Amino acid sequence: MRVKQPTKTVVVSGGSRGLGQHIVEQFLNDPAYVVATCSRSGSPFVDSLLERKDLEGRFFFQTLDISDRKKVREYVRAVRQRFQSVDILINNAAIAYDGVLALQKDDEVDRMVAVNLHGTIALTRACLREMLAQRWGRVITISSVAGKTGFRGLSVYSLTKAGLDGFTRSLSRETGNHGITVNSIAAGFLETEMTHGLSDDQRRQIVRRTPVGRLGKPGDIVPLVQFLCGEGAAFLTGQTIVVDGGMTA
Ligand code: NAP
Repeated sequence: MRVKQPTKTVVVSGGSRGLGQHIVEQFLNDPAYVVATCSRSGSPFVDSLLERKDLEGRFFFQTLDISDRKKVREYVRAVRQRFQSVDILINNAAIAYDGVLALQKDDEVDRMVAVNLHGTIALTRACLREMLAQRWGRVITISSVAGKTGFRGLSVYSLTKAGLDGFTRSLSRETGNHGITVNSIAAGFLETEMTHGLSDDQRRQIVRRTPVGRLGKPGDIVPLVQFLCGEGAAFLTGQTIVVDGGMTA
């Protein structure tokens, strides 16, 4: 049996754990060349991939704080040099600090805006330059239902996600005729580290408000990421697709 060779290079921000980990796994099976970033020193998941001989030359990991614009540009240049192209960008990295606005710390507000907005913009700009030169690309941004509907304690996080949905719509108008589609996925609450801080009461309330009757899992989002990155989605751009078990329907 002939082994399928990777043809695309995928950059997954925040690929060390949570939803990003599942997206990385999916693309490694696809198979694609996969580049994962996160701001801290990796994770057990990343370590396990780096130890695998079969992924040598196919999986690249280096820490990158996406809010550092200069480092982002250098990083993407290094990715292109290593793999010759940057085809798919999954803007998955984000941070969420829960807290009522009047009492929230300035540095938490600044950090959410710096990572979720400025970081995503910087990484998108750097990858887009490569995609424009290739005349093909896919940009998928992981957004949130918090950007569409109100949640107490999430005003700044919601602002960043609503901003990314607007970014997606307008950017798609700049890139459509260059073979590049740009979409976002507004996910409902997911079972990841980001939601570990939810109280039992909050969890029960979310489940009560969700027709499907549970929190989401990364596996509920990954198939849509995969579809949006394929040729079958070439006519789908500028959209925010909600995947939330019906919570905001
Ligand atoms: P998570 O488990 O907290 O993982 C976040 C990832 O982003 C980690 O790999 C983290 O690694 C990385 N990251 C954070 N700051 C970064 C920075 N400055 N530079 C580079 N990487 C950074 O979160 P998740 O739940 O998987 O969330 C993934 C995406 O889904 C996010 O965009 C989130 O907003 C969205 N989402 C999540 C939920 C939910 O309920 N969990 C709901 C809707 C949408 P380091 O910490 O090492 O940097």
